[in-house]
Amino acid sequence: MRKPRMVQQGFSGRDDAAIAADRHNPEIRTTADVMLPALSLSRVTTLLLLFAALTLAASQLAFRYSLSAGMAELESTGRHRLDLYAASLEREIDKYGYFPALLGLDQSVLDMLTAPDANRVARMNHYLEQLNARAGSLSIYILDREGRVIASSNWRQRDSFIGENLFFRPYFRQALETGAGRFFGIGTTQGEPGYYLSSALATGQEVAGVAVVKVGLRQLEQSWGAVEAPALVSDENGVVILSSVPDWKFTTIKPLDKAAMEAFERTQQYNRQALAPLGVKELAVLEDGARLVRLPATTTSAPMFPLAGNFLAQTRNLPGTPWNITVYSPQAQVHTMAVNRAALAGAFAAFLFILALLLNQRRHHLKDQVAAQAALQRAHDELERNVIERTADLSSANERLQKEVAERTQAERTLRSAQDELVQAGKLAVIGQLSAGIAHELNQPLAALRTLSGNARKFLARGNQETASSNLERIDQLVDRMGLLTSQLKSFARKSSGRPQAVPVRRAIENALFLLEQRLKQADTVVRVDLVPEELEAWCDANRLEQVLVNLAGNALDAMEGQHAPVVEIAASRRDGRILIQVRDRGPGISKEVSGRLFEPFFTTKEAGGGLGLGLAISAGIVADFGGALSADNLPEGGAVFTVDLPAAPQRPAS
Ligand code: ADP
Repeated sequence: MRKPRMVQQGFSGRDDAAIAADRHNPEIRTTADVMLPALSLSRVTTLLLLFAALTLAASQLAFRYSLSAGMAELESTGRHRLDLYAASLEREIDKYGYFPALLGLDQSVLDMLTAPDANRVARMNHYLEQLNARAGSLSIYILDREGRVIASSNWRQRDSFIGENLFFRPYFRQALETGAGRFFGIGTTQGEPGYYLSSALATGQEVAGVAVVKVGLRQLEQSWGAVEAPALVSDENGVVILSSVPDWKFTTIKPLDKAAMEAFERTQQYNRQALAPLGVKELAVLEDGARLVRLPATTTSAPMFPLAGNFLAQTRNLPGTPWNITVYSPQAQVHTMAVNRAALAGAFAAFLFILALLLNQRRHHLKDQVAAQAALQRAHDELERNVIERTADLSSANERLQKEVAERTQAERTLRSAQDELVQAGKLAVIGQLSAGIAHELNQPLAALRTLSGNARKFLARGNQETASSNLERIDQLVDRMGLLTSQLKSFARKSSGRPQAVPVRRAIENALFLLEQRLKQADTVVRVDLVPEELEAWCDANRLEQVLVNLAGNALDAMEGQHAPVVEIAASRRDGRILIQVRDRGPGISKEVSGRLFEPFFTTKEAGGGLGLGLAISAGIVADFGGALSADNLPEGGAVFTVDLPAAPQRPAS
């Protein structure tokens, strides 16, 4: 583990240009860059198009498949219905199939035909009436061989067939020609549509007449009408003879030809009905002869189910007849289901597409994440490398600095000792300057001592002890004074430690003036020391402060050399925790040229032998060493003033 501080430095140490370069480096991407792959407009458009195409294709496919499957099912249901309808129709007709032939076995019927009389006919009418009621047919009647109705089940009705000649009806002819006939037609008397079943009535080899049963199929039609698939039965000419939709009856599903029209006229098959076209619109022919059609809207009767939309038309022949039965199965449900399934498939495809998209996105995302992690790892590794390099750089720089510090400390130590030496040299120089005065100071008492000691001896020899004793006392005083002077000199000349301590300012001033006493006297100088309070203490070294003061006072004397009655003023005060000592003179002051170089070492205006130019430089150094300052200025009344500014000694607690 690296130190976090180092890592921090590694980051902050990188300059902006390097960071900008990293941004252009494809290797180093930010996490945000990796997480959010830009989806360009063209990509979005392509995706949308793909989405739409896929959804559309899926719904289209589902629609087609569902439609074809639905149609196949519809076809099968239609076929089934067709079979069902045909069977029911066949059943209905076959029920009466043998009916007319059975009448031919009845002797009373034959008797009535061969020898018709009122009684027989009346009995036959009753018989047929009952038979018809039991069988549920429309009517039963018997024709003679010319086609005239002899007896009929409806004999009681006013519009009874009795007496009517029906030789033109095809079922009569068929019975004469083939023994049996079948025919669908509309009744000529009552206009009731029905199915006619006829059979020849033979007595031996001869045909005596024809028995006819007319069957109504309305019930069957009605039962078809309840089913939602409309159905119709058309004859060989395409005339609709049965239909679950009442409106469709006696319409045509194909154009009638001329021969058919003539036959209708002759046989009055449809009782001169208009026979308009049904108007089924064929849309497409499908497999197995099925057709897709659109049915006409009904006008007069409301159907039980809607006839709108497309229908699947399926047709088959009714066995034993030239008729066709057609069933129309509605396609609407199949269509609706196909649409629903298409919508479902579309939605499912859309879901799958979105799922695939999401999975793909997730895969990309994971890939990007891995890439981001790798990039991050690389960046981390690089960072670590940088940190190691920089740490090494810093260590070597640190070592260099430590070496430099050691060298500087050594140099400072050397400098300090040199400074101390300089201070000492300065001091000795001052002593040198003072030496003449001191010698004079010592010589005078020495001469006095000799005189006094000589006199004392004479007075002792004379026995004048009192005077001798006074001389000896005087000698003591002189020796004391000389001792004081030498001890002062010794103290001044010693090497001080330079360690700061509380220094009484007044004593320092007095000592300095004492050392200069001889010079001051010689020049007849007036020294004024302002009342300096005894407790005023500066935070410095006593010996060095004296040295500074001796220098300043000495310079003041030098400046006033040759001047009549020179004056030196010394004052000391305390202000804001500082001690200010001022030395003023009445000399010429400090000229502009000199003021800039005043504290420069070896700068002097004095003649050779007069000065070294070190006094002020050393003094300024000493004051600065104690955290103070030495400054010079000119006085308005003339003369210079030097100010020593030193920190005051910490106040001693009052005892
Ligand atoms: P030195 O006394 O040996 O010349 P200093 O450093 O003591 O060296 O003084 C440098 C110079 O400053 C002196 O030569 C003098 O020109 C000027 N100077 C010092 N004190 C005074 C003063 N009181 N009045 C005018 N000039 C002064």
